[in-house]
Amino acid sequence: MEKTREVAKHGRLLLVPCPYQGHINPMLNLATYLHRNGFSITIAHTSFNSPNPNRHPEFTFICLNDCLADDLVASLDIAILLLTVNNNCKASLEEAMATVLRDVVCVIHDEIMTFCAEVASSFGVRSLVLRTNSVSTCIGRSVVLQLHAEGRLPLLDQGFMEDEVPNLHPLRYKDLPISAFSDISQSTKLVHKMHDLTTSSGVIWNTIPFLEPSEFTKFKANICNQIPIFAIGPIHKISPTSSSSSLLNEDYTCLPWLHKQPPNSVIYVSLGSVALLTNHELQEMAWGLVNSNQPFLCVVRPGSVRGSDGIGFVLEEFQKKAGDRGCIVEWAPQKEVLAHRAVGGFLSHCGWNSTLESLSEGVPMLCKPYSGDQRGNARYISCVWRVGLTLEGHELKRNEVEKGIRKLMVEEEGRKMRERAMDFKRRIEDCLREGGSCSRNLRELVDFIMSS
Ligand code: UDP
Repeated sequence: MEKTREVAKHGRLLLVPCPYQGHINPMLNLATYLHRNGFSITIAHTSFNSPNPNRHPEFTFICLNDCLADDLVASLDIAILLLTVNNNCKASLEEAMATVLRDVVCVIHDEIMTFCAEVASSFGVRSLVLRTNSVSTCIGRSVVLQLHAEGRLPLLDQGFMEDEVPNLHPLRYKDLPISAFSDISQSTKLVHKMHDLTTSSGVIWNTIPFLEPSEFTKFKANICNQIPIFAIGPIHKISPTSSSSSLLNEDYTCLPWLHKQPPNSVIYVSLGSVALLTNHELQEMAWGLVNSNQPFLCVVRPGSVRGSDGIGFVLEEFQKKAGDRGCIVEWAPQKEVLAHRAVGGFLSHCGWNSTLESLSEGVPMLCKPYSGDQRGNARYISCVWRVGLTLEGHELKRNEVEKGIRKLMVEEEGRKMRERAMDFKRRIEDCLREGGSCSRNLRELVDFIMSS
């Protein structure tokens, strides 16, 4: 099953990503960094949403038997799917650890892949958890657990949605990280497992302490003072690589189109790898973009529109109306796009990776959060870091999209947001430099793993 491709200097690490794009990207970026620092890397993945091994010849890949039924995959209930992955993959990992993975010195797993900590511990191997969203999200999830225990969920039935959660400024109850794709009792079951760090040796976090300093201190003091935390974000910047971990093919034809646009003129639109919108919302977004008169690059992911009947026609009309001023693709090379000088704003669903990628390039955001941690991230973007504004309504509306784009791209308010975003970019570059917090924490992480 496994081929050793090189002699390890520091030993073999087993990395286990959660099978969604926003989790695969940071895990594979971390793998690249650790490989460049002398470790041999094996990636254990599910067959559902499996990464493409051909793009990473420097790693060894093994496939865990997830036994996911097609109807479960199609059901879109992410919590049940992930609980099933945790159940089903355990035996497969145990077998691999007893045979081909006997030389593993440390297991690094996504916080959602909780079975890995149990398996590693039963083999006497240390395990580290990788967290791929913010510290604030993690604290918010604890509040969700508490509300659930008190029988105060679902929130929709409550009168306090708009109130701020005590001690969680600036989050309101409606900003708490609750998935739109899952039954609340299943997702709290998963979160309970994710928050249990009893068999973990440490936490690796894709965040930057200066972004959420008080949340970080609170987490360390109240929740996790027993084991080390390595805040090494933004992970996509720690080991730049040309090999992509995208599950969909990136359409690079948008880059020559971007080259032709004036600096800071283009609004880039992407709602990530999971969010779904209605056909009506797509049309509202399209009209808002067209009416804004700004050039735009818009990602419409295959399958991202609920009830996609007639979607081909909508997209054709959309492109016709936009003419040369618009470029529509199914999936973009997002990091290159955000780093492009022509891009001046990002209409985003505010997934944590997208948020860090945008901040790292100094691109201000127009936020349209959908689910999970996205509302909380949007709140930080708009109210704490003040590098964006949020479209608050439940559904996208063309006049709000148009107004938001104008504000962000051409008005004074947007200019100030861009200045602040550029300041974040500079501070992030400082963190990544030799001696900066990110590079120090990465060094400590490598030393910690080597002390296994
Ligand atoms: N992404 C991309 N091309 C696209 C849209 C998204 O490469 O057209 C990448 C993006 O750079 C990010 C990831 O997909 O790394 C999405 O993760 P995020 O946490 O932002 O959102 P999620 O998909 O988990 O909701």
